[in-house]
Amino acid sequence: GSQVVDQKVDSVCPFCGVGCLLTYNVKDNHIVSVDGRDGPANHSRLCVKGRFGFDYIHNPQRLTVPLIRKASVPKDPDALNALNINASDWSQVFREATWVEALDLAAFQLKHVRDTHGKKALAGFGSAKGSNEEAYLFQKLVRTGFGSNNVDHCTRLCHASSVAGLLEGVGSGSVTNQVNDVEHSDFIFVIGSNPTSNHPVAATWMKNAAKRGAKIVVADPRGTDLGKHAWRTLHFKADTDVAMLNAMLHVIIEEGLVDEAFIRDRANNYDALKANVKNFSPEAMAPICGIDAHTLRDVARAYATAKSAMILWGMGVSQHVHGTDNVRCLIALSSITGQVGKPGSGLHPLRGQNNVQGASDAGLIPMMFPNYQRVINADAHAWFEKFWDTPLDDKPGYTVVEIMGKILADETDPHKIRGMYIMGENPAMSDPNLNHARHALASLEHLVVQDIFMTETAWLADVVLPATAWPEKTGTVSNTDRMVQLGLQAIDPPGDARADLWIIQQIAQRMGLSWHYAGEHHGVAEVYDEMRQAMHAAIGGITWERLQRESSVTYPCHSEDDPGEPTVFKHHFATDDGRVHLVPAGLISANEQPDAQYPFVLITGRQLEHWHTGSMTRRAAVLDAIEPTATASMCSADLQALGVQAGDVMTVASRRGQVSLRVRLDEGTPQGAVFIPFAYQEAAANLLTNPALDPFGKIPELKYCAVSVTAG
Ligand code: SF4
Repeated sequence: GSQVVDQKVDSVCPFCGVGCLLTYNVKDNHIVSVDGRDGPANHSRLCVKGRFGFDYIHNPQRLTVPLIRKASVPKDPDALNALNINASDWSQVFREATWVEALDLAAFQLKHVRDTHGKKALAGFGSAKGSNEEAYLFQKLVRTGFGSNNVDHCTRLCHASSVAGLLEGVGSGSVTNQVNDVEHSDFIFVIGSNPTSNHPVAATWMKNAAKRGAKIVVADPRGTDLGKHAWRTLHFKADTDVAMLNAMLHVIIEEGLVDEAFIRDRANNYDALKANVKNFSPEAMAPICGIDAHTLRDVARAYATAKSAMILWGMGVSQHVHGTDNVRCLIALSSITGQVGKPGSGLHPLRGQNNVQGASDAGLIPMMFPNYQRVINADAHAWFEKFWDTPLDDKPGYTVVEIMGKILADETDPHKIRGMYIMGENPAMSDPNLNHARHALASLEHLVVQDIFMTETAWLADVVLPATAWPEKTGTVSNTDRMVQLGLQAIDPPGDARADLWIIQQIAQRMGLSWHYAGEHHGVAEVYDEMRQAMHAAIGGITWERLQRESSVTYPCHSEDDPGEPTVFKHHFATDDGRVHLVPAGLISANEQPDAQYPFVLITGRQLEHWHTGSMTRRAAVLDAIEPTATASMCSADLQALGVQAGDVMTVASRRGQVSLRVRLDEGTPQGAVFIPFAYQEAAANLLTNPALDPFGKIPELKYCAVSVTAG
């Protein structure tokens, strides 16, 4: 900005996983504008969210005082609704408290649940929006203080199946190549991802590659903006990913387009894969996936024969009961053609939130300690018991959706969950089947919520702890490209809101842990250094001092002079034997199919302007002005058949709930489908969605369920 400012502070965009570096221009403890900074992921570019989405931090609805629920107020969501409470007036439900009072109560109640019902009775959700240091400390609190591995976060709702498939196949859940490596690709396969909305700056690298002559293929049931830049668009029928991808594998094998040396030297189980795809000819799969055999053959040939080809994918691939199978097919495509392990050739699951990669790396997942060391692995277990000087549970904890089920478990269930600590997550908006999730959260004996706004989840809490927004703290985040990036505190938090790192330590101390992290910003550098020791194999060479100098360093990084590895698996994979493990996938249908009563398919997703449950972006004036209301998109053929017009109000209902919202005409929505963004609390898409899980990644099928659509 040209405005005179007091200070310019370097940080990272708080929204998506692209991880654009930026500079906050600060005047009178207010952010007045944002400039793009020259980071390795963005080269000074920013999208509309990064540039204009910062004023949520100054929103008058920020929580500024600790709150304790009044004993007389019901938690039951329906009873709460009946009270007809104004969303910005929480004084009817909560009373203000001092920090000492709120922290004492929160920790005392959690301890009480643990001591009365055992260690499995507690669980914690951390956040992919917080820093690595917060994620690391939070999971350490749950494992060492609560006493179980019941710790998870919203990665379970986005790429859990991708991570499961990648860990099984190539031995590491992160990307093999960075996004702007598409600069070196001559073929870019984008599937189940809408990057111009959800990873906008990443999309610019893809468009630049197309301009240079690279072929982009966009495979998605919906028409998306990137399709305009594509060589081919494959609008396959929702839910038929495996049919389409196996047909491509079939062509590549049948036509001898495989990389035989690569398979011989670096792949296991190729014969089983080959036998499996024998019956998946493009001719046989065309009627199932809706893409003609000729196109399937063209695309398969172009991919296999490209000099270097990248595959990038999003939630369209992962959020299915067969999400892990979808990913297995993508791994197979890249491996049998040798399109992995070299510049411009690889696998990239585009991470959603700014720190979902880092939070997972730091151990905010129930089956693994930091750096994906399995809790059931005796060596890893022993190492962490020694490192943290505490006995640890050696059983994986429950995942996000499982925890909701365990809250509602029978009184006799020894694993019934009765108390929770939720930091920066909003499961009462983000979980599938919200009526069920809200009912579960409301029935907890004790719920502590730490957040910056009175979220749908915070309404159900016993204690609400006012936390800090990203520009109010110093810490690191890790983007989709495996870059650890440092953000510096730009402004002070409002009122009596406090740093999350401080709050976690206060709870830990009150639960009996003797934690003492010293130094500026609540010991952030000391926490980082401890985390670095726990994750030595990945970030051993990325010291705090180095981050202060360089802002962004890619891992794996082994020593202080190691520049990091943008492309991994050049010579061997991260599996035990160093080879890729191919896993054949068969056809599995969505858990819930359309029928006479619920004839449409609901597809959920995001928009460019809004971020996830909307708690931040809907409080950012510019973003809210561009997309102010909840909408459901349908194509003209369906609108005509229903007798409704664009702008009309309609009701969308599933077996689990219903919402009313305005219909938007969008010819990109396939016939027979409705698309609803999930950011709008007044018409929450997840009231409708199906909690059925992928058995491997435990991810719910947020991309596909049956709904009815009626006018009015
Ligand atoms: Fe922020 Fe993502 Fe936009 Fe970059 S692309 S400015 S990280 S929201």
